[in-house]
Amino acid sequence: MVIPSQVLSFVQVSPLIDCVSVQEVGFENYWTTLIVSYLKEGVLPEEKEATRKLKVKAACFILIKDILYKRGFSRPYLRCLGPEEADYVTREVHKEICGNHSGSHLLIQKLNMTRYYWPTMQKDAHAYVMACNKCQRFGNLIRVFVSDNGKQFDNDTFRDFCSEQGIKNHYSSPAHP
Ligand SMILES: [Zn+2]
Repeated sequence: MVIPSQVLSFVQVSPLIDCVSVQEVGFENYWTTLIVSYLKEGVLPEEKEATRKLKVKAACFILIKDILYKRGFSRPYLRCLGPEEADYVTREVHKEICGNHSGSHLLIQKLNMTRYYWPTMQKDAHAYVMACNKCQRFGNLIRVFVSDNGKQFDNDTFRDFCSEQGIKNHYSSPAHP
């Protein structure tokens, strides 16, 4: 599996690595808590149905040196993140793609390459892009131009937008000085 260098570089230099202990056992609201207590100490819920569900779910995870990973068939284990770290990773990866016309699709794609996992990754990525003014403006604009049969990216509105955003336009030709 190829991981883009920019993703790797921020993972390596980020303080996230030092904060690993934060996502270990303990935080009550973390989605990982029940799974970790079960894998580590065999703690099971009182209810039968909840126990069954937890066991099924926990089979997809593995605890290595107190860190929870999600197993995969043909991919490396994905390190499970609690909400704060998930938020941090989303923010950092979003910086790379902010303003890109692919919107949340690209963010989700890039997040999938980070080897981290949390259950609401897709939803969070979508919400993040929706909440980002720059992503929204660019995304809407691209939709308008793509529907413009071949004249996309080649008119005054788009030029204005580009200069406003500090984007050099590379499509200028003698016909459109
Ligand atoms: Zn953005």
